[in-house]
Amino acid sequence: SLSDRLTATFKNLRGKGRLTEADVDATVREIRRALLDADVAVPVVREFTARVRERSLGAEVSGALNPSQQIVKIVNEELVEILGGETRRIRLAKTGPTIIMLAGLQGAGKTTLAGKLSKWLKAQGHSPILVACDLQRPNAVTQLQVVGKRAGVPVFAPHPGATSELEHPAGDPVAVARAGVEEARQKLHDVVIVDTAGRLGVDAEMMEQASQIRRAIVPNEVLFVIDAMIGQDAVNTAMAFDEGVNFTGIVLSKLDGDARGGAALSVASVTGKPVMFASTGEGLDDFELFHPDRMASRILDMGDVLTLIEQAEKNWDKDEAARMAKKFADQEDFTLDDFLAQMQQIRNMGSMKKMLMMMPGAQNIRQQLENFDEREIDRVEAIVRSMTPHERVAPKIINGSRRARIARGSGVHVSEVNGLLERFAQAQKMMKKMAQGGGMPGMPGMPG
Ligand code: GDP
Ligand code: MG
Repeated sequence: SLSDRLTATFKNLRGKGRLTEADVDATVREIRRALLDADVAVPVVREFTARVRERSLGAEVSGALNPSQQIVKIVNEELVEILGGETRRIRLAKTGPTIIMLAGLQGAGKTTLAGKLSKWLKAQGHSPILVACDLQRPNAVTQLQVVGKRAGVPVFAPHPGATSELEHPAGDPVAVARAGVEEARQKLHDVVIVDTAGRLGVDAEMMEQASQIRRAIVPNEVLFVIDAMIGQDAVNTAMAFDEGVNFTGIVLSKLDGDARGGAALSVASVTGKPVMFASTGEGLDDFELFHPDRMASRILDMGDVLTLIEQAEKNWDKDEAARMAKKFADQEDFTLDDFLAQMQQIRNMGSMKKMLMMMPGAQNIRQQLENFDEREIDRVEAIVRSMTPHERVAPKIINGSRRARIARGSGVHVSEVNGLLERFAQAQKMMKKMAQGGGMPGMPGMPG
């Protein structure tokens, strides 16, 4: 995964605390590969990585994150931004029914989406009606009727079995669309969902028809439905539909498959339109609001790493981190004061334990994590406070009589002082290792 590759790339850069051009380029290379793996269109990848590179080079150095984390954070922010920022809701009409038109290639999932969307809206107290304007395929109208029945939503169709008493202008999808909206008005439906025809590829006649329907009914939303598996064709298809029907939102279908969702980024990036919904199966309930942040991590394949970055940033005291980073860089010795400061950092990180458990490689320190007791930090603090400044920087001088004095001063047993000094020695070793690369700052204070 990208996470593993980035870890490898940065094995030697941890704790450097500065974004150099070489750091940025190495990471951007990995990001590029991850995006291509996720089937993001090549031109979109190119533009995207160029922007990330520029932003990363100009980025302020973060105390909380190592260089790769910092770049991944920028990448994630850019992804979320392109995918639509906050999840956007359907814009409801101020008066009369809200008109939602569906557009997209044949097989994209429009008719299925009509059912899902209507069921979902109905559950929220709306009273939707479906309008069957796909008159190209012989079974399209019947398919919508089946879907409507399953969703418990009426279907307006130019066909026997239609729910309307109005005259049905069979054969002309534009007239059907108009009549369907009129039906909704008359029967006081507050949402109309207009299903349209698609072709296997974009063609002028189909687009002209869709565009005529749009002009005839003036929808509040035109949703462009696109199969997440479409891959590199996403850009051309999306641009054709954007030009043809000027859609207002994107629905990504078939996200239940293997697709990492690169199409979402391609389409959103070239059209500037938000992704609003995700379809995740053939069932009517396999449907959800689209969450840009979740999709960003799916595209990046970063799992919980992004959560980790967020937590680390929130909790890490930046000044302390900067001080530690400088210490590493200067190869200074790790002292008992540092040890205590780190333990206190850990306490500040309330959910530290949970957070560390999510980290790749957490199994290696699982035992320590499970033994971790926050009250332990109070004892450590008491013990360290009973040491002289000189003892804190040169713990080697802490002999038997000093240990007894410290134990008395801090109200603990000598064995606890011994235990602390042992853990400190381990932490010191670990810090040396980390300073040479690998590992995450802020952990060595963990008692064993
Ligand atoms: P349309 O031609 O755009 O109306 O597409 P349909 O709604 O008829 O869907 C085409 C095929 O894809 C059907 O077999 C659907 O059951 C299937 N389908 C639609 N949405 C999804 C989805 O989110 N996941 C999966 N696995 N299949 C889907
Ligand atoms: Mg259809």
